Amino acid sequence: MSNHIEDQLSAYMDNELSEAERRQVEEHLDTCPECSELLSDLSGIKTQVFTAYHSIEAPEGFEDKVINAIGLNVTHENVSTGSNWLLLPLISVLCFITIVLVVMGSYLFKFGSIMLKIAYNLLHVFGDILGSHTYIIAGLIGLSIILIVASSISIKHLLKASGFKGANW
Ligand SMILES: [Zn+2]
Repeated sequence: MSNHIEDQLSAYMDNELSEAERRQVEEHLDTCPECSELLSDLSGIKTQVFTAYHSIEAPEGFEDKVINAIGLNVTHENVSTGSNWLLLPLISVLCFITIVLVVMGSYLFKFGSIMLKIAYNLLHVFGDILGSHTYIIAGLIGLSIILIVASSISIKHLLKASGFKGANW
């Protein structure tokens, strides 16, 4: 006697087996009372579940609740779509830059002699950007120092206003 076919019974009931597998299962069922019993048990359970599922009736007002829930979800989706909408220009700009780079890249490949010139110009542009960045960084540091001083002063004032005793620094 070969192995039992418990693993295949569920698939057999759902008609998910190939022709050969199906024949194998049926041959085994003819000779094995244990598996035949298991099959009838399983199909009985399946019928019960099926009947139970179909006899369940939605409670009063359930449909309205579902529609309301979906309505709320739709509003949430709208909100997230709104924030996605802000990302769209950024993505299109990135796409544009990518296209420009690709086009520029093919140009650079075709006109190798211009490449050096453009590279030279790019270096200059990058130099300018880096130069202006030092100003930006210096400006940001200055601004943050001003903000820290301003916020510490305002915190001091707030603490004094609320009568906090420890605020004598
Ligand atoms: Zn068996």
